[in-house]
Amino acid sequence: MKHIQEALNKLYQTAQKTLELVYQDDKTPLQNNLAFQDALTNIGRNPQHPDVLVCGDLNGFKSINDQFGHDAGDAVIAQAGRILQTLFVDGLHIRAFHISGDEFALLLPKQQLQAFIQQAQVFAKAPARHEKETILFGMSFGYASTDHGTQIPSPPELKSRAEIALQIAKQQGAGCCVGWSEELSAQKLETLRQRCPTCNTTTSCSVPADRLPTNKQLKSCPICEQPFS
Ligand SMILES: [Zn+2]
Repeated sequence: MKHIQEALNKLYQTAQKTLELVYQDDKTPLQNNLAFQDALTNIGRNPQHPDVLVCGDLNGFKSINDQFGHDAGDAVIAQAGRILQTLFVDGLHIRAFHISGDEFALLLPKQQLQAFIQQAQVFAKAPARHEKETILFGMSFGYASTDHGTQIPSPPELKSRAEIALQIAKQQGAGCCVGWSEELSAQKLETLRQRCPTCNTTTSCSVPADRLPTNKQLKSCPICEQPFS
């Protein structure tokens, strides 16, 4: 009987180790998108599970890549991951994930939201070292909670709310953290893009979702002023 128990313990430990490897991100000390998707299915389920989803992404990541190269971009991603790991995973014991490209996510209980928002301000201007250079980078955050309203939102709905809040946070600047609300959804910006057949100008503009024309078309060309029919 003792042998069976020992064998089961060993099996359990091996399974845990395998899961840790499968969940490990390859660019940061954080867990990866697979771990995030698994964790997200349990959000808000009961008092033991976290009920706030925070999404963050780097500001101006494309220009870092363009200016310093992709290795520098990777160095910035790694540094952002290390900061999230130190402050929030080690410091507050919450889970943080690198979910893709320059996108990060965290899951936390709402009791820790204020502490998170306070400490996230370090992302207003954070330094990363690459070769002999110091690259300053920023990150903004948006969050959504499962206890908003009477029904628990589905994981994809919760994620899209956090991303809408993130878009607004980006307009406010690096280090900012914005919470989702119904009013925010109306402020969400949609991109309209149209090419003028007369002067060949391509216009692209960001329009608040509630101001979007029903046919999703611009009325006229802003350069040659020809109406678009
Ligand atoms: Zn035109």
